[in-house]
Amino acid sequence: MIRAYTIASGKGGTGKTTVTANLGTALAQYGRETCVVDTDMGMANLGLVLGLTETPVTLHEVLAGKASIQDAMYEGPYGLKIVPSGLSLQGFQNADPQKLKDVMCDLTDACDFLFFDAPAGIGADGVIPLTVADEVLLVVNPEISSLVDALKIKILTEMIDGAVGGAILNRATLENSDVSRGKIEKTLGVSIIDTIPEDVNIRRAAAARTPVIVGSPGSESSKAFRRIAARLVGFP
Ligand code: ADP
Ligand code: MG
Repeated sequence: MIRAYTIASGKGGTGKTTVTANLGTALAQYGRETCVVDTDMGMANLGLVLGLTETPVTLHEVLAGKASIQDAMYEGPYGLKIVPSGLSLQGFQNADPQKLKDVMCDLTDACDFLFFDAPAGIGADGVIPLTVADEVLLVVNPEISSLVDALKIKILTEMIDGAVGGAILNRATLENSDVSRGKIEKTLGVSIIDTIPEDVNIRRAAAARTPVIVGSPGSESSKAFRRIAARLVGFP
């Protein structure tokens, strides 16, 4: 049965796209049919960080009713299926986020795991992805502004009958942080599934347009992504 997750945070730049790309690739490495969808339709970059260059049909055309989801699906590392969004403003304007529910239905038989990479903010394009998944996973940085925005997303998700499955603490450093793990869990009322360290290899991999678990598989961040993926699969 398909498991669908929306990777959200409220705030921009917390690592949603990084988490989506790496968890998706890790699950594909584990042999699971996995699809990642760029629902950050205004500031799309999931396809770019996964190395896609030519994407003539994207989620924009699908949500404008002009193409099927299969036409917008491209193959990434380890057979990962990627549905990128387009880069044009016109395409963004023509896309109807409400149609995401149909996309979800169309993908039910196509994969075991589905990830929606959410945009920042709480506009219509940000809210709909919170409703279409089985669980929302919150990406939080150890700073107060990130925590406040993640809390907003948690409250909003519950208001619209979605479910928050947990938080992923990203960009953790050894230095004193604004907010502790305990404070994050207490404020959000959910557990931190795992912690991904601040890792220069992530930025290097992004520049090389490949996920860090492919570019630097031995790095601490890669190990963390594989741990989270293993947990989603249900490995002991
Ligand atoms: P979002 O999708 O939430 O806007 P991104 O995944 O695009 O965030 O990440 C924003 C920037 O931070 C990117 O340049 C990315 O490479 C970098 N980044 C994300 N997580 C880490 C990390 N753990 N260590 C170092 N850089 C990171
Ligand atoms: Mg992003």
